Amino acid sequence: MNSTLPRKGKENKSGGKASTENRTARFLLLTVVALSVGFFAGIRYQQSLPARSSPPPAVNHLPPALPVDQPIRPAPARFLPDTTHPDGKEFVVCGPIDLATFSSGRDLIYFDDPRVWFASDHAGNHEDDDHTIHRSLEEPLRRLVELAARRHAHIKIHGAYRPIGIHLIRSLHREGRAVDLTSEELSLEDLAKLCWQSGFDWVYYESTVKTGAHVHASVKRATSLSIPLSPATNSFYAATESGDE
Ligand SMILES: [Zn+2]
Repeated sequence: MNSTLPRKGKENKSGGKASTENRTARFLLLTVVALSVGFFAGIRYQQSLPARSSPPPAVNHLPPALPVDQPIRPAPARFLPDTTHPDGKEFVVCGPIDLATFSSGRDLIYFDDPRVWFASDHAGNHEDDDHTIHRSLEEPLRRLVELAARRHAHIKIHGAYRPIGIHLIRSLHREGRAVDLTSEELSLEDLAKLCWQSGFDWVYYESTVKTGAHVHASVKRATSLSIPLSPATNSFYAATESGDE
């Protein structure tokens, strides 16, 4: 008995040690398993959640484009002969021409609409092409054609791009940024009002010109084409107060 007791004790002692090691190993194993399960469960949970770090959907803050048959401004109450809208010099409102930075290949486009009458289409030896306009003039001109059509009226274009010819040396026609207009169905006052509603930047009801009364409507250079003026043009316009059509 006595001889066995110490052995038993020994056995118990070593058995106790083994069982402690076993418990430790089991504990470590369970811990590893638990951590692994938790880790993978966490990944799956994360995957099931909507990605919080993804960027928000893009929001377009630009106002929707106005339909081309809608006026962009109300009509002025009156548009008297030999007045302009707005009241001021054309080169101040629209910016002067600057042939040093103007490029016919880049800035001019061909405009056509079967409802529009073009003077150059009806003159056999006409050197100018009244379909040629500055690209920044296209949108107001298209809007004008539509607004006139709503009144069962047609637009006549008597002059557009004029690199040389009858217009003043500083005329915006030299960059294709102006058109001379009439309409058989509209009075010149109503046509001038409609030009203003169509979005032209400067409108002039010209009643006292040799070539005949008409409405001259012009635009600024498009903002995407805003090229700094050449020094010569800057100094020229700083020294003059005139600049109308
Ligand atoms: Zn003109």
